[in-house]
Amino acid sequence: MAPTCGFCGRGHGEVRRLIAAEDGATHICDDCVARIDEVLSHADAPGREAEPAEPAEPEPPQPALRVPTPREIKADLEQWVIEQEDAKRTLSVAVYNHYKRLQHPSAELQKANVMMVGPTGTGKTLLAQTLARSLDVPFAIADATTLTEAGYVGDDVENIVLRLLQVADHDVARAERGILYLDEVDKIARKSEGTSITRDVSGEGVQQALLKLIEGTTAHVPPQGGRKHPHQELIPVRTHGILFLCGGAFEGLDDIVRNRVDVSRVGFQTGDEEAVAHADVMPEDLMKYGLIPELIGRLPVTVRLHELSVNALVNVLTQPRGALVREYQQLFSLGGVSLEFSREALFEVARQAQARGTGARALRSILERTLNEAMFEVPGSDVTAVRVERDDVLDPSGLLKRVERRKTA
Ligand code: ADP
Repeated sequence: MAPTCGFCGRGHGEVRRLIAAEDGATHICDDCVARIDEVLSHADAPGREAEPAEPAEPEPPQPALRVPTPREIKADLEQWVIEQEDAKRTLSVAVYNHYKRLQHPSAELQKANVMMVGPTGTGKTLLAQTLARSLDVPFAIADATTLTEAGYVGDDVENIVLRLLQVADHDVARAERGILYLDEVDKIARKSEGTSITRDVSGEGVQQALLKLIEGTTAHVPPQGGRKHPHQELIPVRTHGILFLCGGAFEGLDDIVRNRVDVSRVGFQTGDEEAVAHADVMPEDLMKYGLIPELIGRLPVTVRLHELSVNALVNVLTQPRGALVREYQQLFSLGGVSLEFSREALFEVARQAQARGTGARALRSILERTLNEAMFEVPGSDVTAVRVERDDVLDPSGLLKRVERRKTA
């Protein structure tokens, strides 16, 4: 039988090295050696009692990660996300490369985390979540702004990893190849580049702490979360294989891009907003915005997401898997009631959503408001069909007057 690591069960080809014990039959891989070393060095750290080293739990062997091709990943994104073509393509490639790297740990390849720049409600979180589902890896969301508020920056930042660990049912090896979506990264930018008097150093501190995590470190995670205290057992989690997708609206970034494009491109028409909105975001733009160069260096791939038009919002309502309209239709059909929307009604929902300026986020609350009364009155009644017209979106009070009811014999 081919030798495998007695701790994690992996064999040659899955690890860099397998080291044989004296009996020649037992083996251990380099990863597990490193992990045990971590556990021991941590237990002996000053300020804590040297606890007897717990025998490292033999980890269940990880099922081999099947990495879909960029084409397959993108096809999956198509099913869930409307528009954002560039983002889908670039993300598919970045994610593919990341997991290929993990499969071949011996190759000295740098990790390429991704920065997603785009207004709220345009699909950043949805893309990240869908990617994790495609790859079948654990997924967690963290909000960068919550990190600014707490004092103990380092600890808090490590708590992000805890969330991934929880989603992975405390399976460390699984968490170590998960995807972390870090939202609102723009909010931890230094407030004013260059002017040292008003410089916001707290944001910079969080960026520094994040940097370590993103580039790859061993985070020591308190299993219950919260602040670390001495004598507490901490779980070492390597973040080298975790893919960090960062997102933010970066309001005002367009001004920086416009300035750069204006200066550099002869023939560029000032006011050509279309061109500005589609121009690539360069590292120097993010630097001007207030991100530290080291962090930008760790997020070498930047994708832009664009505001969704009214047409696109109608598509969001009806087309993707898990589309809102279908969700409500299903809900009604469970009670034996059919639910239909006229084309004009869908446009009205999309139009109102766009006016709110929160992208696709507003769609659900508009539908909820439109259908609220029907959802209260219809169950248990003789209503068999509800059809929503444009007027009902404007004023839902008339909706129940035009429903079809069961014919009584
Ligand atoms: P963001 O992270 O960009 O603020 P989210 O991805 O959280 O936005 O989207 C908010 C809601 O709108 C989610 O319910 C999501 O399903 C929907 N949504 C946003 N953009 C799209 C899109 N491009 N295609 C399909 N649904 C979308």
